[in-house]
Amino acid sequence: MKRGLPKIRMAVARLKKHSGNPSSVASAPAANAAAGTAATQVVINSDDPAWAHCFCPDATKKHWLVCKYCDKLLKAGITRVKYHLAGIKGNNVKKCEKVPPPVRDEMIAQLTKKIEEKDQKAKEKQMD
Ligand SMILES: [Zn+2]
Repeated sequence: MKRGLPKIRMAVARLKKHSGNPSSVASAPAANAAAGTAATQVVINSDDPAWAHCFCPDATKKHWLVCKYCDKLLKAGITRVKYHLAGIKGNNVKKCEKVPPPVRDEMIAQLTKKIEEKDQKAKEKQMD
């Protein structure tokens, strides 16, 4: 029965090691958010590059985001902001008229990547 304790200590040591490693934070954003959201209010999913192009005007409404380029308020979260910036129609969002082309390209690349990841995950699920 005494074997349980060292095991727990090892797990704690491992956790501490992890929290000090920035690369592990990037690979586990969900765990990081759960531990850190209490102190930070407005920034959610701060590892998402789209946050550089919008801000949250009301900390109590985290899915409300204002585009930095055209000041448009989007009430449906960061993904909608990406579609807005990417200028992709058909997602219930108007495209941004003032986004710089490099930012637009970046958002398009991100959305494409996301879709590919989703496809990949769907395929993996089917294989299970
Ligand atoms: Zn905009």
